[in-house]
Amino acid sequence: MKTIDQIAAELQGYDPQALPAQSVAAFLKKLVQPVQDSMELPLFEAFGKVLAQDVMSHLDVPPHDNSAMDGYAFDGKQLIQANQHQTTLALRVVGTALAGKAWSLAVGPGECVKIMTGAVMPVGLDTVAPQELVDVTGPGGSTIAIKPGLLKAGDNRRLRGEDLARGTPALRRGERLNPARLGLAASLGLANLKVRRPLRVAYFSTGDEILSLGEPPREGAVYDSNRYTVWGLLRQMGCEVIDMGVVRDEPTLLEEAFKAAAVRADAIITSGGVSVGEADFTKAMMKKLGDVAFWRVAMRPGRPMAVGRIQVSDRQAQSPEKSAILFGLPGNPVAVMVTFLAFVRPALLQMMGCTDPEPPLLKAYSLDIIRKKPGRTEYQRGWVETTPAGRLQVRVTGDQGSGVLRSMAQANGLIVLHHGQGNVAAGEAVDVMMFDGVI
Ligand code: AMP
Ligand code: MG
Repeated sequence: MKTIDQIAAELQGYDPQALPAQSVAAFLKKLVQPVQDSMELPLFEAFGKVLAQDVMSHLDVPPHDNSAMDGYAFDGKQLIQANQHQTTLALRVVGTALAGKAWSLAVGPGECVKIMTGAVMPVGLDTVAPQELVDVTGPGGSTIAIKPGLLKAGDNRRLRGEDLARGTPALRRGERLNPARLGLAASLGLANLKVRRPLRVAYFSTGDEILSLGEPPREGAVYDSNRYTVWGLLRQMGCEVIDMGVVRDEPTLLEEAFKAAAVRADAIITSGGVSVGEADFTKAMMKKLGDVAFWRVAMRPGRPMAVGRIQVSDRQAQSPEKSAILFGLPGNPVAVMVTFLAFVRPALLQMMGCTDPEPPLLKAYSLDIIRKKPGRTEYQRGWVETTPAGRLQVRVTGDQGSGVLRSMAQANGLIVLHHGQGNVAAGEAVDVMMFDGVI
């Protein structure tokens, strides 16, 4: 396990007083490790968790060639001549193949079998004429006619193993079990999957001016909103949240809270108390109990941040030393969300064992002029939508003041203005990081 100083020494141009956002991400990548414990869970419970092993297909899916349409199955060789000579192919219907009930008798030239979607292709037949493409000619639907040029051999047949071929990888370790992956595992008949255990994340708010819900309003005090946004962000990721409420700015209370959090959790998130000139004990306690770096990040919003490890000796646990990764976020509600989405989320995903923790950036056209100074990364709250012409566009959602949570509530993504970037003209393409509607 590398110390904060060792990691810092590995980074080029590490300056804790003006740390570029990219360096924060690089630092966190070196700091965190995936949790190692795994467990076998039934599929529904495995939803949202991270696979602890590759899943190989032990079956072909689908297990047999089958029809992709409702129609008529026949031997496609007969189309070659008919198409060449522009003649209609007439076929006699000799029976019906249903999904789950195969047609097992031989089908000869000039014959076909009525077939439903998903039904096994009768032996020797490779082509399905969809019912809307054929003319039913004989009495009681006993013959059909297929006009030339509409079909070729092999059409509308799904091949055995075309979804998953036996012996090939279906899912990879490190993939999060989203709905499609859960369905894919189920298509192999797997009732259980081996997943990493969920991450346990403890959260508390600090600051003497912070009121818990239920307390009466008080002069100079504000309600604790961070606890709720962080809870929501963690739950969206499938973390187990240990909610520790508001901790008053008092050394004994802070020490107790940090220690309890470090014993129980893999990661501790706090908000408040990391700004320069804070008249509080939060930073002092982080220093006392752990190996922690204090940064001024070259970003807006969200400049102050503390990151490291909190260590405690745990007499109850088997290992005498227990540590948890610390993310000390600024107090500002908008800064909390931005630093969480930009840095904490990818780091936690890495701890969850995800192999793909970085959020994708999309390109959207800015409807607004945006002022931006080069030399820091700025995040603006934006509403991203698709125009009728199919372009992504984004508009800034009103007041971008760092204390204005309303414009965050009206946004579905963050406009990411990179370190070196300057002003943005209206109509210019910008990067956006979606946080709603995609994840
Ligand atoms: P700080 O980082 O402690 O200087 O806090 C910056 C600003 O965020 C101050 O206006 C605080 O009152 C506010 N703030 C801090 N913690 C919270 C919280 N948990 N909920 C809402 N606002 C907060
Ligand atoms: Mg404060």
